[in-house]
Amino acid sequence: MKDRHTNQDWIRISPWVIVGAFIVLVPIFAFMTMKNVKTQQDNMIMLMREKGDALIRSFEAGARTGAMGLNWSGIQIQRLIMETAEQPDILYILITDHNGKILAHNQPMLIGRMHEENLDYAAIDERIQSRQITRSDGKPVFEVYRRFIPSQGRGLFRHRRMTPEDMLLSHMFPENYQQPAITIFVGLDMDPIVKTMRESTKQSILNAVILLLIGFSGIISIIVAYNYRVARANLSRIKAFSDSIVENIPVGLLFISESGRIVTMNNACEKMLRISCLESVSRYAADILPPQLVALSQEALRSSEILIREIDVPVQGKNMLFETSASVLHDDDGHFLGYIILLRDITEIRHLKREMQRKERLASLGSLAAGVAHEIRNPLSSIKGFATYFKERYKDVPEDKDTAEIMIREVERLNRVIGQLLEFARPMNVQQRTIDVNGILRHSLGMIRKQAASQGITIDAQDLADEPVYAYIDQDRIGQVLLNVYLNAIEAMTNGGVLKIWIEKDEVNDTIAINVSDTGCGIPGADIGRVFDPYFTTKQSGTGLGLAIVHKIVEAHGGQVKIASTEEKGTTVSLILPAKEEE
Ligand code: ADP
Ligand code: MG
Repeated sequence: MKDRHTNQDWIRISPWVIVGAFIVLVPIFAFMTMKNVKTQQDNMIMLMREKGDALIRSFEAGARTGAMGLNWSGIQIQRLIMETAEQPDILYILITDHNGKILAHNQPMLIGRMHEENLDYAAIDERIQSRQITRSDGKPVFEVYRRFIPSQGRGLFRHRRMTPEDMLLSHMFPENYQQPAITIFVGLDMDPIVKTMRESTKQSILNAVILLLIGFSGIISIIVAYNYRVARANLSRIKAFSDSIVENIPVGLLFISESGRIVTMNNACEKMLRISCLESVSRYAADILPPQLVALSQEALRSSEILIREIDVPVQGKNMLFETSASVLHDDDGHFLGYIILLRDITEIRHLKREMQRKERLASLGSLAAGVAHEIRNPLSSIKGFATYFKERYKDVPEDKDTAEIMIREVERLNRVIGQLLEFARPMNVQQRTIDVNGILRHSLGMIRKQAASQGITIDAQDLADEPVYAYIDQDRIGQVLLNVYLNAIEAMTNGGVLKIWIEKDEVNDTIAINVSDTGCGIPGADIGRVFDPYFTTKQSGTGLGLAIVHKIVEAHGGQVKIASTEEKGTTVSLILPAKEEE
C-alpha cells in the first residue's frame, strides 16, 4: 500500500483561510490607522490654536503694558504688531474693526483694506476660534482669532472710564470711534505642520502595514501550529495502531536496514527464530539470522517482485520449515530503505501433510499386501513341507541336505516378511491396561541380552527405577515395539557400543516416554523423515517394516514416536505413551 500523503501536508493552508484573514485584518488596521491620523491631526490643530491663543494673550499683555505707562498711539500698536510677527512661523498679525477692515497689520501697506470677507465679524466673541484658509498665493494658513480684549479678566481697566479698545480706537481713528468691537487675527504658517502631518501619516500607514503583516503571520502560525498538532496526534494514533498490529499478528515480521542491520522484529518473529529483538537490534543480520534468511534478503534486492519461498531453517538444532516472503522497502521518493521479511511457521503443516500422505500410502498398500500375502502363504507352506521332506530324504547326502535347509530358512524368512506385512496391513487392535512398564522393559531386554553381548554391546538400564512405573498400554504390542527398536539399535552398532534405556514422566500431559538410545551409525538428515515409511530400509536384508509397525502400534495407543539422531554419533528413539486411562 502506498501512502499518498506526504509529511508536509500539515503545512498546507487553504487559500480561503488566507483571504479570510485578510478580510478580517485589513479593515481593522485601516480603521485604526485612520483614527490615529485623525487624532494626530486634532492634536496638531489644538497645538496651533494654543500657540495662536498664547500669542494673542502675549500681544494683549504687551498692549496693556504699553497703555498703562504711556499714551497709546496707532504707531505703538503697529510697532508691537510688527515685532511680535517677527517670531518664526507667524505669517501675519492683524486687527480689524467689526466690518473686517484692517486697522493694524504687520505689513503696514495692508492697513485700511478688508480682511477676509466671508466671515461674520460681528459674531466673533471672546472665545478663541480658528480656521484653515488658503492665502491668495496658495499658501495654507492656520488662522486664530477672537475679540481683541487687552483688559480681559485682569481687572486693571475695570474702573477706568475708557477701555484700552476705546483708547486704541480713539487714538487711531478718532473720527470713526464708535464701535469698540475689534478682532485680532494671527495667521500661522501651516507648512511645517502639513509636512509633519504627512510624515506622521506615512509613519502610521507603515506601522499599520507592519502590524498587519505581524497579525497575519500570527494567524498563519496559529493555524500551522494547530494543523501540526492535529497531524501529530493523527500520526501517533496511526503509529499505535500499526504497532499493535505488527506486534500481535501471528506472522513473524523482520525489518533489515539497507546497510544490512536489523531494525526491528515482532514477537512472533522472536519466537520463531528464538532470538531476542533487544539483543539483535542494530546488529548485522548476517551475524544473527540463519544464513538462509540473509540469502533470501539478498535475492529480494535483485528481484523486482515479492519473493515467496519455503525454506528449511535450523533453529536451535531443530529443522523448521518457514514460508517466507521477502520484499524491498522504498520511501515515497524511491530511496531504498531496507528489506521486510515475513515468516510463517509451516513445520507442523509439513508434518501433517507427510503424515497424511503416509496414511494414504499405507491404506492402499495394506489392502494390496493382505491379498498378496494370503495368496503366497499357502504355496509357501507346501514348499516348506517339501523342503522338510527332502531334508529328511537326503539326510545322508550333506550337499542336498544343506540345500534343503537353506530352502527351509528362506521360506521361513519369507513367512516372516509376509507375517509382518499382514501385521502391518491389518487394522490395529490394542488391548490397553494399566501395566508396570519396568516389567515389560526387563522382559524385552532379557530377550536380546545374548545377541547384544555377542556383538560387544553393553546394555545400560541403571536409570530404571525399582518401583513400578505405570502406563496404559497393550503389553504384547509394546513388547513387539521395543524389540523392533532394540534390534534396529543393535544393527546400527556393528562395532559394539552402549544401548541405554530410561523412562521420563510428564505429569502435565500424563504421559511417559520410554527412551532407547544407541551409539551407532545414526541416520542421515535426508533419511530421517522417511524411516517410518513402509519398505524404507538401508539394510541388505531389511524389510523396512520395523519402524512402520512401531509407529502404527504407538499411534494406536494414542502415543507418539520421536527420533533424534546424529550421524556417526547415535540415535535416540522416544516412545511417548499414555500414563493412565483417559477419563
Ligand atoms: P529395517 O530395520 O528393516 O531396515 P526399519 O523400519 O526398522 O526397517 O528401519 C528403517 C531404517 O531406519 C533402517 O534401514 C535404518 O536405516 C534406519 N534406522 C532405524 N533405526 C536406526 C538406528 N537405531 N540407527 C540407525 N539407523 C536406524
Ligand atoms: Mg528394523
